Amino acid sequence: MSDATIAGVPTQRLRQLAEREARRFARARPRTRAALDKGAGAFVGRVPLHWMADWPTPFPIVVAEAQGARLTDLDGIRIDDFCLGDTGSLFGHAPAPVVAAIRRQARAGLTFMLPTEAALTAGRLLTERFGDFRWQIATTASDANRFALRVARAVTGRPKVLVFNGCYHGAVDDTFVTIGPDGRTINRPGLLGQVADLAQLATCVEFNDFAAVAAALATGQIAAILTEPVLTNCAMVPPAPGFLDALRQMATEAGALLIIDETHTLASGPGGYARQHGLQADMLVVGKAVAGGMPTAVWGMTPDLAARYLAVNASRPSGHSGMGTTLSANPMQFACLVATLSQVMTDKAYAHMDKGAARLAAGLDDAIARHGAPWHVARVGARVEFICAPGPLPNGAAAMAAHHPRLEAALNLALVNRGCLIAPFHNMMLVSPATTKGQIDRLIAAFAEVLRELFESR
Ligand code: PMP
Repeated sequence: MSDATIAGVPTQRLRQLAEREARRFARARPRTRAALDKGAGAFVGRVPLHWMADWPTPFPIVVAEAQGARLTDLDGIRIDDFCLGDTGSLFGHAPAPVVAAIRRQARAGLTFMLPTEAALTAGRLLTERFGDFRWQIATTASDANRFALRVARAVTGRPKVLVFNGCYHGAVDDTFVTIGPDGRTINRPGLLGQVADLAQLATCVEFNDFAAVAAALATGQIAAILTEPVLTNCAMVPPAPGFLDALRQMATEAGALLIIDETHTLASGPGGYARQHGLQADMLVVGKAVAGGMPTAVWGMTPDLAARYLAVNASRPSGHSGMGTTLSANPMQFACLVATLSQVMTDKAYAHMDKGAARLAAGLDDAIARHGAPWHVARVGARVEFICAPGPLPNGAAAMAAHHPRLEAALNLALVNRGCLIAPFHNMMLVSPATTKGQIDRLIAAFAEVLRELFESR
């Protein structure tokens, strides 16, 4: 790559685009600016959650309301939303059955630390949708992954989790590891406030590296492999043929558990990626969108594993197991789980999402091909990414190297100014049941227009 280009784009043109788009964004939003000037100072870094400062816009969009696959901001600007809360609203904003369930439950109590009748229905629906697991309900996928790891260590008596380079499983310290220059597991350089050497708790190898997985398992130290079936949290890395089956088999042979985190790959199709591809996990974690946007995560274990876990638990003095948070498994979560599983996350909805995402991927591919850009498009079900590097990507190291932050920031901002919101991470775009063909075609057209500005001389 020469200094004068980034992923094939002349840097000078990129700078001009970024400056032009930043001015355009700010000019269009006087009310937003005024509101932020008045209120944002109350927050650390001027945002209530630090990720909100990760958008490449000069200041955050302040949302007035969201319906279906569209946001309206404080200045009344309507934006087609392909970020969908980074999958939390994968099934669209405020799905009608979920809104109705929230209204009903709000009149009947918000939290009891006791099940409701809907809880019993939710358990049955979860099994129908995801397979024969025994479930627990948490509030975030981060929590669910932490609890799943605790169970894995408790039943196997082993210390370590095996994770893949470039993974993300939420705020789960054990997983914030990468591969150091000498091939050994080290703490991720960006991790804050962690004083322990996480290599005591985790081993990190590359996704699709059969031999490295075998070697890690051969140590006898691995309680569980924790992975997404497709790495989605660096730039999408698909599994090599046979890799997931090999993980399953190697884990079983080594007496380790396989934990599949479907928090993003829920977009793959009904029941998630594992169900779609006949992959049997020992534990399954599904977060974010599973209750239609109500903060909820579910984690399930096979009936066999549940029996092992209960036996280990019964053998210990009662007291703090280290699992659970007080407001989890609350009645609002159950009401929303039932509404989502039975009326929102339907096969029909998935068919619409898949078809729309295929249309989007094809349109983006065309635009990339037109300019001969050395980029590619990756897709798993309703989840699409454009990646400003050739693909498919073989592993996390390649995925991390495929990122070009300046270029991606300028593209993201230019798309916002053309009425299309994509995620601030990994150029992710989601197609919901509410997303229309018109919205998809507008995104394709906006992307094509920005590429023309970047690649063609005026
Ligand atoms: N697992 C995966 C695969 C994720 O992508 C994420 C969040 N991006 C999480 C877990 C954590 O979810 P949450 O932030 O809701 O805890």
